[in-house]
Amino acid sequence: MGILFLVLGLIIGSYCNVIIARYADDSYKNSKRSLCPKCKEIIAWYDNVPLVSYLLLKGKCRKCNERISIRYPFVETLNALIYLAIYFRLDLSIGLILICALSSLLMCITFIDIDHMVIPNRFVAIIFILGILRLFLTNELTISSALYGGLIGYGFFSNHCSTYRCNGRRRCKANGSCRFLAGFC
Ligand SMILES: [Zn+2]
Repeated sequence: MGILFLVLGLIIGSYCNVIIARYADDSYKNSKRSLCPKCKEIIAWYDNVPLVSYLLLKGKCRKCNERISIRYPFVETLNALIYLAIYFRLDLSIGLILICALSSLLMCITFIDIDHMVIPNRFVAIIFILGILRLFLTNELTISSALYGGLIGYGFFSNHCSTYRCNGRRRCKANGSCRFLAGFC
């Protein structure tokens, strides 16, 4: 069963790479297939097997021979290891599936934030949806604890935001983080 979680983690991790790469990159708009980040040629399915293809091709594109970032296998491997850790830590349940989904979402948010210094609202909305699903489909949360968590998360950071705005006279860029923290808590 652990192997299944590892493989699933690699596949979803590969999908996380697609989401991270496609964010704010117009070259993907006309193609639903995966593209080489350098030459923008379509990557064949057999060159797109998570981790395995990267190792077989020694981290290079088959078409243009350019190096492909180590980040791709890193994200896949990290996602797989996180899934495995969650599997060992939690019983098989809806809560486990929701936590796996949340961890992959956080992975996407982390790397998009690193690349573009932004936490997209639609990702925050999905965190809220996962929280609501956890509230109604599992008995791990109560409505009051969810509300407290959300308010404390938002309150703590929005307070920090307004202080920063007063001192720095600059538009605070951490509003996305406030909403993120509210959803996360
Ligand atoms: Zn290429």
